[in-house]
Amino acid sequence: MVRNVIIIGSGPAGYTAAIYASRANLQPLLFAGEPPAHLDGGQLMLTTDVENYPGFPEGITGPEMMDKFLAQSKRFGTEVQMRSVTKVDLESRPFRVFLGEEVHESKTIIIATGAEAKWLNLPGEKELHNRGISACATCDGALFGGKVVGVVGGGDSAVEEATFLTRFASKVHMIHRRDQLRASKIMQDRALSNPKIAMEWNTIPEGYSAKEGKHGPSLAGVKVRDTNTGETREIPMDGFFMAIGHKPNTDLFTGVLDMDEVGYLKTKPGTTYTNIEGVFACGDVQDRHYRQAVTAAGTGCMAAIDAERWIETQH
Ligand code: NAP
Repeated sequence: MVRNVIIIGSGPAGYTAAIYASRANLQPLLFAGEPPAHLDGGQLMLTTDVENYPGFPEGITGPEMMDKFLAQSKRFGTEVQMRSVTKVDLESRPFRVFLGEEVHESKTIIIATGAEAKWLNLPGEKELHNRGISACATCDGALFGGKVVGVVGGGDSAVEEATFLTRFASKVHMIHRRDQLRASKIMQDRALSNPKIAMEWNTIPEGYSAKEGKHGPSLAGVKVRDTNTGETREIPMDGFFMAIGHKPNTDLFTGVLDMDEVGYLKTKPGTTYTNIEGVFACGDVQDRHYRQAVTAAGTGCMAAIDAERWIETQH
């Protein structure tokens, strides 16, 4: 069976594309990625309250919002599989999408694979993953009740995570490499006025120290350097969270689809067309500027309309 549309990805972009494509009677198949939750539903599964998506004046949690998107896409006949695509062949017609040995064919592909958290990749970091170092305060914050933690970064994610962590931690060090936050004013004000948050300006992490415990090593502190004086010191903490931005999930398309220098897919301005006809990209995977749930949803809608119209031209 050759599908009309296969959608890869399950954030606001993928689900919105699915809602539009299913309402256009294209019976889309959407590969959502495998649970754990952070792979199915995208970054919104890792966020706390979404306060800036129109239609939810009281706010809504990221996972609740994704549940609603999923339900709405299914209501109009989208087939959703919580599985991960392992390979794509965009050079054959119809296109082929692989899940291991299993192959699905489709006239069009909508890519909505999003972006994921970046890590500092300092020595010792990998060994301390889930042993104090994390990229998801929403997932792991509650493990640090009454403890001292840190967050690196100065954008909206960093202040959101730092603010969220104050629910559990006794103190949150916000480590930022400059003397000014990049985050939006309202979120900055919340963090800067929170007595549990200590700002560590002009500071960059350089390494970690670990302590031995019953279950092996865990984080004891973050070694930092002052960018003005060059002075180094260690900030003792039990938990440390990455919030230094994101990288697009485009490994599946390397060498086939046009990308910018950091791997974001290139789309034809004002459309979701990639360099391969019949392959469309939407959401954070092709947007390094706005990266909002509402803009992702908007481009998901565009991708479904672009796919529908493109299919019509093929008869
Ligand atoms: P971001 O805006 O790109 O901020 C990344 C931060 O990490 C910057 O402050 C940057 O420092 C710092 N950084 C980057 N690489 C670093 C490194 N190697 N070492 C130390 N620091 C480093 O990323 P984001 O905060 O994840 O936000 C991404 C997008 O999502 C933004 O558009 C944001 O508005 C949006 N967002 C919105 C909400 C919300 O509204 N609720 C929540 C989260 C995210 P510099 O400032 O010096 O560059």
